[in-house]
Amino acid sequence: MNDDTLAYAVTFRRRQRNIILRVQGDGTLVVSAPTGTPQVRIDEFVASKTRWIARRRAATAELPPRIERDSAQFERHRAEMQAALADLMPLWCERLGVAKEPRISIKVMSTRWGSCNARLHKINLNVELARRGSEALEYVLVHELAHLFHQNHGPGFYALMDEHLPDWRARRARLRALQ
Ligand SMILES: [Zn+2]
Repeated sequence: MNDDTLAYAVTFRRRQRNIILRVQGDGTLVVSAPTGTPQVRIDEFVASKTRWIARRRAATAELPPRIERDSAQFERHRAEMQAALADLMPLWCERLGVAKEPRISIKVMSTRWGSCNARLHKINLNVELARRGSEALEYVLVHELAHLFHQNHGPGFYALMDEHLPDWRARRARLRALQ
């Protein structure tokens, strides 16, 4: 490819169906593609995403470095989130009809904003949410609480989200833009 800014590293995966492009924190491009995808096809795909790549690079350049596990910064952000959750958790358990508040663990998570283990009645939240604003934290909390009722992303799950947090899609879009 002539354009250096569109240079990428590629991994081929047998069980993948589509070409997936990621912009890493340092701005470099990483592509994964189904085994056997011709180089020219991948070049075309990456070239077609030029504007998206530029937007992602601009967005990641503005982000502060990731919070490191066990750092003073981590403890500070975890305390901030715990303080926010002291209000949000009882409010949302009440609204959704969660009888007993789940255990919360605030952690460094590399790929997700949160997760829910319904069987253990436990929710994990990514400490990075401390820097994404209270609307984002509330959205992820409600999402994970909804998983106590629906362990998938099926129609019942989305119906619950729509009923209780009607602007959740906009909140998710804002959070994704900040990723
Ligand atoms: Zn989910």
